[in-house]
Amino acid sequence: MHQTSRPRTESSVSVIGAGIAGAWHALLFAQAGHDVTLHERSDASLVLSTSHWAGGMLAPYCESEVAEPIISRLGLRALDLWRRELPDTPFNGSLVVAHPRDRSDFERFARLTEGHRRLDAAGLKALEPSLEGRFREGLFFAREGHVEPRRVLPKLHERIIAAGGTIMFNSDVSADDVDGLVIDCRGLAARDDQPELRGVKGELILIETDEVTLSRPVRLIHPRFPLYVIPRGDGRFMLGATSIESEDNGVSVRSALELLGAAYAVHPAFAEARIVEFGSGLRPAYPDNLPRIAVNNGHIAVNGLYRHGFLLAPALAELTLSYVERGVIDNEVMQCA
Ligand SMILES: Cc1cc2nc3c(=O)[nH]c(=O)nc-3n(C[C@H](O)[C@H](O)[C@H](O)COP(=O)(O)OP(=O)(O)OC[C@H]3O[C@@H](n4cnc5c(N)ncnc54)[C@H](O)[C@@H]3O)c2cc1C
Repeated sequence: MHQTSRPRTESSVSVIGAGIAGAWHALLFAQAGHDVTLHERSDASLVLSTSHWAGGMLAPYCESEVAEPIISRLGLRALDLWRRELPDTPFNGSLVVAHPRDRSDFERFARLTEGHRRLDAAGLKALEPSLEGRFREGLFFAREGHVEPRRVLPKLHERIIAAGGTIMFNSDVSADDVDGLVIDCRGLAARDDQPELRGVKGELILIETDEVTLSRPVRLIHPRFPLYVIPRGDGRFMLGATSIESEDNGVSVRSALELLGAAYAVHPAFAEARIVEFGSGLRPAYPDNLPRIAVNNGHIAVNGLYRHGFLLAPALAELTLSYVERGVIDNEVMQCA
């Protein structure tokens, strides 16, 4: 980190895109006293945003199995910001389990991650009684949390308004149409001026059953595809998620079979669940799969949140605000023209 000699001081701020990146930027800037307008091209349901389809896991420890250290650094900071802004966010941890045949992958996961404690079968049963007899051991990441995107985005939008910001839905704008400092959080739609962005497809299935109760996300280690089951309340569970280098936005039969088969492997009672929804979203990613805050005069583009948008958005918004108010540059994330 270093500080530039000429920090910016615009107070009128236009944020484009009300997904998770835009929502957190609008919130922190409004709370800091800026005159914020958040523009979103779709209506408040946000079905056009990747954020609508996300799992919402806040899992910096589990993600460190595959992600660069910067994801954990920003993710750990973001956990504090989630706690500060939305204190009712569930921080009751996440659980990683594997069947005995996948033991070596389970041990590898344990080696590559920290912040966990091993549970035996009795410990698993105490934490998630529905999993009794299903697995011999698990890893409990007690400090992780999760949010439900479709509930938390409206909450963040309410808080933006409470902090004095304005939100304009059905407002499809370009940087030239809006006033003051522009913070571009358009996700994959920003490809018109950032051609290196690509979409990485993630498919999910929402199911419903009252035969299984879970209190926290459960990840199943699997040699071909990692699966997670996230409780959504009212007997609903999200099964996710594939990660496919494709921008097709459908759900393939193969993915559906794999997701449902893996859910069955977590608990056979999921076989009787009702399917509520199939869906997919395109994760906006740069070639290195790392997030970026690109600064160019009065235009700041925040993008490439890839598979970590909910985990990272608060910390990225805080970095953007520090830059605008005090000229602080985080060299790992920021690019200044
Ligand atoms: C299946 C799946 C599971 C995932 N699970 C997780 C998870 O568990 N944890 C996690 O941290 N991340 C997860 N992710 C990743 C996360 O969803 C993304 O990183 C994140 O949603 C990206 O957010 P964003 O705000 O950059 O983009 P988006 O959510 O796409 O938001 C961009 C917004 O900009 C709007 N927009 C575009 N152009 C304009 C314009 N011209 N004018 C106005 N508005 C415009 C769009 O309508 C959209 O609402 C998952 C993703 C998928 C697909």
